[in-house]
Amino acid sequence: MSLFQIELDRNNAAVIRDNWLSLQADVADAAEAAGRRADEIRIVGVTKYVDAPTAACLVEAGCLNLGESRPQVLWDKTAWMQRYAVDPKAVRWHLIGHLQRNKLRRTIPWLDLMHSVDSLRLASTLEASLDETTDTLQALLEINLTGDEAKTGLLPNAGRQILEQARRWKGLQFVGLMGMAGLNASPEECRQQFAGLRQIRDTWQSELGMDLPELSMGMSSDFPAAIAEGATIVRVGSRLFEGITKAT
Ligand SMILES: *Cc1c(COP(=O)(O)O)cnc(C)c1O
Repeated sequence: MSLFQIELDRNNAAVIRDNWLSLQADVADAAEAAGRRADEIRIVGVTKYVDAPTAACLVEAGCLNLGESRPQVLWDKTAWMQRYAVDPKAVRWHLIGHLQRNKLRRTIPWLDLMHSVDSLRLASTLEASLDETTDTLQALLEINLTGDEAKTGLLPNAGRQILEQARRWKGLQFVGLMGMAGLNASPEECRQQFAGLRQIRDTWQSELGMDLPELSMGMSSDFPAAIAEGATIVRVGSRLFEGITKAT
């Protein structure tokens, strides 16, 4: 039985299903090579490249965690899912890009996990907004792994200062860290950067006495290295949509 009350493009559905199965197999292989269990790793399918009906093919294949980098596009896709999915709540949404503060109220209710808290201002505004509604939101701090000013994310010291304050917060609950390898990093450099994120996490866990189990790291080109270094969430986009008929 289909998860949607609308007919999906058959060719795209078949291609995306194959891509999803092959990604799952590769994630399982990477986990095994690292002496880990495949079910320790959550795969977030990044749908920012495609329209909602194409994202639906990925859900139909069994990928129930979807990631978007722009709030506006996330709203559009959640609206589509509300309309056409048999069980819209089955889809769990992850925001992996910058959240402008004026878009936060409308975005929070949709999110299963906010990956990209990248400033103290955003963190405190989120906390204030959640405090009003007594909602909670799980979030990750986005850390700049390369120290490159042009890249998104917090330098480690700034990240640590946010966690020191957030320890006392009730609404915004930090459960880990997110990071991206440098654009031109070699496989070995990627792996070192991911190891760096894990080490920062380990240090903060023990020094701040916080539980930070989640490490969101690894994309289409570098997820095996991320899994080797302890990723619990990989965010994979382009690889899942290879070979589809263009739909954006
Ligand atoms: C686009 C994006 C991804 C997915 O990248 P692919 O290389 O297409 O797998 C992962 N994380 C973030 C933050 C992104 O913006």
